[in-house]
Formats: sequence, structure tokens, C-alpha cells
Amino acid sequence: MWKLGESRRRFFVDCRRPEENFWATLFREAGREDLVSGDEYAEYFAITPNHSNCPEIEQAVKYLVDIAPVEWKATMRNIFVARAFNGEANAEASSFRSAGIIELNYGFTLAAMIYSTLFSHFYDAVLTVGTEVDFDDEDSETTLLIVEEVERMAFEPIAATDEAIGEWAAARHVQAMHVSQTQLPARRNKEDYHNLVTSVEQFVIAHEFCHHMLGHTDVQFRHSRGVRRLVLEKMEGLGIEDLLQEMNPHQIRELEADVGAFLLLSGYLTSEVKRSRIYRSVGGSFVALVALAHVAEGWASREGEEGDPQTHPDFSTRLEVMYRLVKDMTLGMPVADFGDHPMGFVIQLRAFAFVVLKTWASRSNADVQAPRFLNVFSWMLDQQQEFWDEYLGELLPE
Ligand SMILES: [Zn+2]
Repeated sequence: MWKLGESRRRFFVDCRRPEENFWATLFREAGREDLVSGDEYAEYFAITPNHSNCPEIEQAVKYLVDIAPVEWKATMRNIFVARAFNGEANAEASSFRSAGIIELNYGFTLAAMIYSTLFSHFYDAVLTVGTEVDFDDEDSETTLLIVEEVERMAFEPIAATDEAIGEWAAARHVQAMHVSQTQLPARRNKEDYHNLVTSVEQFVIAHEFCHHMLGHTDVQFRHSRGVRRLVLEKMEGLGIEDLLQEMNPHQIRELEADVGAFLLLSGYLTSEVKRSRIYRSVGGSFVALVALAHVAEGWASREGEEGDPQTHPDFSTRLEVMYRLVKDMTLGMPVADFGDHPMGFVIQLRAFAFVVLKTWASRSNADVQAPRFLNVFSWMLDQQQEFWDEYLGELLPE
């Protein structure tokens, strides 16, 4: 059985850092002892690690334990969730005899912020075309100019990020390198943005919790069979048998952790699905997977070296599984008075994923064309129509 004290001690011993607030260590190592020992942030730096070495992650853990099935709570409380000093965009779950640990690299949080900003630009552009372009307008020159500007708004930040990933890989450190990676469009609601970043982090932490709770990290570990069954049954209903057949056990566990994380965040594991939770899980999962895919350049599966099997499915597959899961869970939900439905949000996020993928692919492959905004926009309209057809089909009796 894991003990929180043991889990915490093990993390700090392994990374050879003092047992204190992550940010205090980080600033000290950056030569800003003045900030750490000054009065201004004294209260913040004085927060000592309990479930995490970072106050924000401590909040995320508290939230996840709150919404977790009761059989999971005690074990989750004994896992130490660390903000790790490594700058790569990654997370990891590990276990030792009496210690359960989750590490979320500092670089992943930076990636969560950057890709949430990229999605904000993309979303703003879609909104602009939706509300300001009249395609029936006879003044087609003006329409074209607006579309050109919108394409720049949406795609320039993505292109700048695409150029940065080589440097990130070489330095093994993610960081913002262009103003459009940090500056939000003027009308983007700051709170929505912060909620998205938090959801992205929550999804990744929930994914790692699921590795522990579904018994992936410790075979001795007595995970709750009932909850595990809920996750597996949901996966069986997604029509992904063909995909699973081609995968090794490591890859299947990744999909289990993705699906488990989504089910935990949406409230499904405790029969408390809420619309607001669905939106958060949709945003968190898609932006997280797009960020990880792009930074690791892992959209398509690569040939594994002999004796070195691929441990993760490619991200196009992971995104496809999430899409099927969201559809399965939300198609029966009512459309809100103002026309909103989680599937509408999913369509925007899939279009965003497509643009990031195409931008990346067109850089490395001369046969792939760079994305064009109007094509993406009309794909979204088609998807919207398809949703309506299926949605109405669900409502009407045979
Ligand atoms: Zn994983």
C-alpha cells in the first residue's frame, strides 16, 4: 500500500531537490533568491508540499479526488503528484513498493498554455467568419480580403509554433517563442482561457492517475474491478476492435488511460455526468492530445526498432478514439437554447487538430499542401450538417 509521506519523500530524493514549493526551487535555481526570500511572494512560496509540490496542482488533485469514485479516493490521496523540473512536454506515472508518483513536467504546463492560446486564435477566426462574412455579398473582393485576414489570424500562431518544435526538441524544453503563443485575441474571455488550460492539465493528471488506478503501474495493486469494468465496457462500445487488434498491451493501456481520464472528468464513473463537465473534458482532452502530438511529432505511428516496441499509439488514433467516445456520450444530449451542443465544440477542436497536423505535415512533406481556411471552414459546416442529421435521427422514432 502506498503512503503519501513515502511517495513525496521518494520524489524529492530522486530529483535531489529540497522538499519545498516547486516555484521557490525554480526561482532560486534561476538566480532569483531575492524573489524567494522577499516579502512580496512570501506567503505563496511558504506553501509546503502535501499532495503536490505546486499549489496549482494541489488544487487539481483535490478536484480529481473529489469527483473520483469512492473506491479510488483513499489510494489517490496517497499518490504524490509532482510538478517536475524537466522542460519536455510530458507526464509519467511510476510506482515503487510504498510510493505512488505522478510527474507532470514543467514543459507540459507551458505547452498547455501555448496550445490553449493557439486554439483561442483559431476559435476567434471561426467566429469572425461565422458572423462577419456574407458569402452572398456581391462585393467578393472584400469577402476575400476578410478571409485572407482571418486565415492569417488563425494560422500564423500555429505556423510559428510549428517552426519552434525543432528547437524545443533540441533543447528538450518547451517555451513560448512568438508573441502570438502568449497573447490572446482581444475578445477571448480570459476566464475561458484559464479554464481551458486547467482542463488540459487536469486531463493529463487524470490520465496518469488512471494508469495507477487501472492497475497499469503495479500488478499487485488492488484496483477496483468495478470501475475498471466500467472503463472497459465503454471502450467495447466504441467499435474500435480493429484498432485494438493491431496494438500491443502498452498501447492499449494508453487508450484505457485516455478513456478512463475522460470518464473520470465527465463524472461518468460516479454517475454524475454534467454538461459543464463534458465541455471541460472535451476541451482538456483534445487540446492535450494535439499539444502532445505536435511537440512529439507523433501523429502517425513510426516503425518501432527491433526489440523496442512502440509504447504509445499514434495521436491520430488517440484523437479518433476520443472523438468516438464523446459522440457516444453526448449525441443524446439536448441542444441548448442558444444552439450549443458539445458536438459543436468537438467539431471546432477536430478542425483545429487537422490544421495543426496539416501545417506540420506540409512542412516535412512537399506532397502535402498547407491548410486553407476556407476548406477547413466548409469541412466544419459539413460536419455540423452531419451532426444534425444524426442527432435528429436519434430523436425521431424509427
Ligand atoms: Zn500514458
